[in-house]
Amino acid sequence: MKRIGVLTSGGDSPGMNAAIRAVVRKAIYHDLEVYGISYGYAGLIAGDIRKMELGSVGDIIHRGGTMLYTARCEEFKTLEGQKKGIEQLKKFGIEGLVVIGGDGSYRGAQKLTEHGFPTIGVPGTIDNDIPGTDYTIGFDTALNTVIDAIDKIRDTATSHERTYVIEVMGRHAGDLALWSGLADGAETIVIPEADYEMNQIISRLERGQERGKKHSIIIVAEGAGSGMDFGKRISDATQMETRVTVLGHIQRGGSPTGADRVLASRLGAKAVDLLLEGEAGRTVGIQNNKLVHHDINEVLAQPHSVDLDMYKLSQELSI
Ligand code: ADP
Repeated sequence: MKRIGVLTSGGDSPGMNAAIRAVVRKAIYHDLEVYGISYGYAGLIAGDIRKMELGSVGDIIHRGGTMLYTARCEEFKTLEGQKKGIEQLKKFGIEGLVVIGGDGSYRGAQKLTEHGFPTIGVPGTIDNDIPGTDYTIGFDTALNTVIDAIDKIRDTATSHERTYVIEVMGRHAGDLALWSGLADGAETIVIPEADYEMNQIISRLERGQERGKKHSIIIVAEGAGSGMDFGKRISDATQMETRVTVLGHIQRGGSPTGADRVLASRLGAKAVDLLLEGEAGRTVGIQNNKLVHHDINEVLAQPHSVDLDMYKLSQELSI
């Protein structure tokens, strides 16, 4: 293999730049040529492809977002779109591809591999919802962003003795809600992977009020319902003054944490190693602090699982 490509796709996450840098530098270290594809699969179809040098990825390790930009591309879900993508890769003489993104992006990588084009997936998403890795690139940064926001809301919640409902990202996964709720001592955490009883949430709030709690924090993962809706149901049922904050896209931005930079560097470099070893249709990950790789079909066939022991702990610590 002489020439590889790299793209970022789907939702961006902090640390994608560090992963791109690792792919480019590791490839050049091994005397490969490396091409950056802008705007994910949309750029691949359009041939928005250029050669990357060592300097192309200078001064990006600490920046959020992705220097290759990202996009969602419906056309790539069709056979015709995928064929166009492969034609572009061939035109540029690219023989292997690293796709940095979430599970949707992995499905694109799976298709490329099925069509005989060696592709490796690198997990980049703040949701931490990709099987085969304990952590995805961007989760730690987003977690710290959420914690910082909740700390600030807690100050004002205490001053005003209010109940705060905070909606965090996670369309299908509750990791960000669970981890931030545990890290911030939230009274209640609502995640899509666990059933909840509104009555129990309300009686927990009332018990807290009776023992003189100054405020309550309820974290809702967006996949479990709308924060606005929760806020209304709580204020209707309890007459407590309730405020709702939807954190939104601030969770996607910001300079990646040390943990995310290191993870991105390790995973990006590992993806290049796999291509050089002749692997295809693999996804890289970290499990028990060891680099691992798995068959992309197996990864995509597995459901995401949240750590329910942690969920139970969060309930035990917020009685
Ligand atoms: P993420 O990678 O963050 O989960 P999306 O789910 O939006 O983001 O997926 C990103 C892109 O991956 C899509 O816009 C599309 O181009 C590609 N993709 C998603 N699903 C498929 C599929 N089944 N086949 C081919 N490409 C897909």
